[in-house]
Amino acid sequence: MVIHLLLYGCLSILIIVAITALVSPWFRNLKLAKSLALYPLHSANLIIILDKHNQINFINSSAITFLQKHGFSSDDGKVLLPENLEFHQHNALTDKQYHQYFEVNIQQHSFDCELLWHPKTKQWTISLVAISDYTFNRQKSQPQIRVNPDTGLDNHFVFKETIEQMVDERQSFIAGQLEIRSYSKLLADDDIETSRRVLKELSNLLKEICANIDLNIRIFQLSEKRFGLVLPNNNSHQTVKRLVATINNKVKKTQFSGQHSLQLDYGFTNFPTDGNSTEEIIRNTRIALENSASQEFTDYMMFSNELGQSVSRQNTLQDAMRSALLDNHFQLFFQPQYSLKEKKVIGAEVLIRWQFEEQWISPSEFIPLAEHSGLILPLGNWILTSVCHKAKHLVAKGYEDIIIAVNISPKQFSAPNFVEMVKRALLTSGLDAKNLELEITEGVLFNKDADTINTLNLLNEMGINLAIDDFGTGYSSLSYLQTFPVNKLKIDQSFVRNMHLNKADKSIVKSVIELGSELGVTLIAEGVEQSEQVELLTQMGCDEIQGFWLSKPLDESYFSHFLHSNKSLS
Ligand code: C2E
Ligand code: CA
Ligand code: CA
Repeated sequence: MVIHLLLYGCLSILIIVAITALVSPWFRNLKLAKSLALYPLHSANLIIILDKHNQINFINSSAITFLQKHGFSSDDGKVLLPENLEFHQHNALTDKQYHQYFEVNIQQHSFDCELLWHPKTKQWTISLVAISDYTFNRQKSQPQIRVNPDTGLDNHFVFKETIEQMVDERQSFIAGQLEIRSYSKLLADDDIETSRRVLKELSNLLKEICANIDLNIRIFQLSEKRFGLVLPNNNSHQTVKRLVATINNKVKKTQFSGQHSLQLDYGFTNFPTDGNSTEEIIRNTRIALENSASQEFTDYMMFSNELGQSVSRQNTLQDAMRSALLDNHFQLFFQPQYSLKEKKVIGAEVLIRWQFEEQWISPSEFIPLAEHSGLILPLGNWILTSVCHKAKHLVAKGYEDIIIAVNISPKQFSAPNFVEMVKRALLTSGLDAKNLELEITEGVLFNKDADTINTLNLLNEMGINLAIDDFGTGYSSLSYLQTFPVNKLKIDQSFVRNMHLNKADKSIVKSVIELGSELGVTLIAEGVEQSEQVELLTQMGCDEIQGFWLSKPLDESYFSHFLHSNKSLS
């Protein structure tokens, strides 16, 4: 046995040395070597490291085995690169954590793909965790690594086998996954040794808590930042609740590696009620985890049929949106805006419209999905470019002072090339910056970071109007107006809706108008439907209004008619 181990150890070292020799030109800098150290060469996951030009710097032995098994040579690493890699990279770069997580199909095997950007070493790491049965086929022909060498926890093969066995035996159980929030940030800010220590300390803490709660609870390490849990024997939601509360409590009190606070996200699935096969259980657990991770104040999420249906609708809509963008199926409508002071129509807000399977889908449903998937970047670019062309058309018709407002989503605003994108839209359309207004939400301004201020200043210097949308619903503060070059506040419709009936709403609207006017910004009330509201807003000194009282959003030709027939207002 000892000889066996020794032989195995020597063999591993030889393999490592051989691969090291093969990749020696890539070891030029210490940083790269360090980043490789994080992903041991013998990791069971397929690991590919790319440089900033997407040239392959390194692939690990599991990846080479996979390639060879499918008739490729170790030089064919490109086969392992996910489809739409650049799209995901773009999203990762606009994600504050430099991280993307998605599912890919490679050579007819499904993988969970983790894409990480390391700003310090300027490299990409792609980590592929098998979720189809590739790993099980492989197990038959060669020995498999089943334990994470750093933490001593069983890895994802064992997690899957454990679940598979319980599914076969029809034992009821709850499976879970938990993940460190902002792990990539930890990697970006720290050296590898610290990250490893953090992981080790966390896994020890998890082992201890699980053993204290129920010796039958099993814990696994699925990837660098993700752990698996199996709670056998009819364990109830109560145990899950207790487990999560205990872990969170301990984690909150612990400074990992002496300096790091951690936050965890959790997802759980019940067998047999919420999944019938091993793959379904693992997939549903992940869906629950991702859902919990996207909600800041949710401790954990149990998979449910409703969640499954909502995720499936989201996936359908996301795919359909991609096609709609390519096939030009989105439409832009114009909702007129009216100046109470000048008594004329001054412009419009552009609102996107989309019909899918003969139904209009609300932008309140699909825009957040486009944000989440990153599609908002190409979609937002299409909106901006199209709007500029349409607005130029109106200017050419004689509406020289018209202002057309476009909604800009936070992810779009913080994209590194946003200002460039706006410049290009203006340039290609020939539209003057003074005819364009960008609507951003309060959330964008909240951090007051240098990039935000810089972007706003650049846009302002170009002569573009900036409006704060839905004012009053976010972290409302009129101090924005002193820090940022903002021209307009859009008073949210939730205050306007009942302002003629409700005293509190009326006084909020009144004070925003008073303070805003003192600070020299234009005020526009949204969602104005009733004449009583128009009267009150006029008395209060509000500058502009928008809402069904004036007009619903109109398609381009109706808007053109609207402008024409309302010329008498000017
Ligand atoms: P928003 O920017 O606050 O847009 C105003 C919403 O209120 C629009 O809904 C509009 O149709 C509706 N509305 C206008 N007047 C009235 C009224 O008098 N009464 C009532 N009850 N509603 C009124 P819509 O078009 O469904 O858009 C919803 C949200 O979707 C927008 O809220 C905006 O956040 C987002 N959105 C719409 N178009 C775009 C776009 O092109 N880009 C981005 N990033 N987001 C968009
Ligand atoms: Ca808006
Ligand atoms: Ca609004």
